[in-house]
Amino acid sequence: MRAAMFKGVGRPMEVETIDDPTPEPHTLILKVKNCGICGSDLHMTDAHSIMPLAAGNVMGHEFSGEVVAIGSDWKGRFKEGDRVAAFPYISCGKCPACLSGGAFGMCPEGKGIGLGQSHGGYAELVKIAGTGAHRLPDVVSYEEGALVEPLAVGLHAVDKAQMARGATVLVIGAGPVGLSVMLWARFLGARHVIVSERAAGRREMAAKFGATDMVDPSQPLTEQVMKIAGKGPDIIFECVGVPGLLNQMINEAPVGATILVAGVCQEMDQILPLTAIVKELRLQFVLGYRPPDFDYVIDMIAKDRVEVSQMITDRVTLDQLPSAFEALRKPTTQCKVMLKN
Ligand SMILES: [Zn+2]
Ligand SMILES: [Zn+2]
Repeated sequence: MRAAMFKGVGRPMEVETIDDPTPEPHTLILKVKNCGICGSDLHMTDAHSIMPLAAGNVMGHEFSGEVVAIGSDWKGRFKEGDRVAAFPYISCGKCPACLSGGAFGMCPEGKGIGLGQSHGGYAELVKIAGTGAHRLPDVVSYEEGALVEPLAVGLHAVDKAQMARGATVLVIGAGPVGLSVMLWARFLGARHVIVSERAAGRREMAAKFGATDMVDPSQPLTEQVMKIAGKGPDIIFECVGVPGLLNQMINEAPVGATILVAGVCQEMDQILPLTAIVKELRLQFVLGYRPPDFDYVIDMIAKDRVEVSQMITDRVTLDQLPSAFEALRKPTTQCKVMLKN
């Protein structure tokens, strides 16, 4: 098969022919239909990464595809031609972590797909776990299927924030993670979803994803939120992940607020705990999602309860992928860039 191979930090991926993946008993092989480029792929391949990806890996963990080969454990449960979105994690299915719901990253035998442990979806074919295959109803397109993963990130973040109905929510950053957070926060009952974002294109996108108001990132945020909502934010979703931002949010947060850290900062970062202590802030970090998040997202897309494909701004072939990927290091108008096989 052809795949976009990571060649090392500072070098663009190269499309190469490598061996086709073969199914093990607990796995399936998919023909990749769509695969989104994720900010974490950019992070793990840049010079400052503290967890750099090794050369010789195929990235891509936001994908959908058609089942083309079935491991012996899954014969009879899947058939060739089945359409699925993939939970990008091959876990054993038998350990306590797997049996208690299969949380991302928690299985001792688990391998992330497209994250350096098992080849990902920037390719023609990909191997996934049978337990990770989430069926797509016919009304859900493959493109929507490839958005299930980033949408599950936002859903899990809103779950972890323990948001009450009627909440006032402040979302910092309107990239794909921020958009997904806004969508679910509004969907699940936030009264105000207020967004802080510099880029004009992203502010426009936010308005389509549930943002009720915008604030100016260069001015104190909580004051602006109070003018809109009559109170400060109950929850601040940090969806950017740059040093200094967490402490800025601690300074901004009103007494008793929750700060949900969904941005992925990969550098040492300083906070002043005293500020958070005197306000009894709650700081919650999140990783990934759970398998039921995938089914819920698919179901809401299938029922037309959410409109998600407008997140996609660019579609590229496998041959165009390496240059589109490098261009995302300095994005202009792109939001979600999607490989289309
Ligand atoms: Zn991702
Ligand atoms: Zn396990």
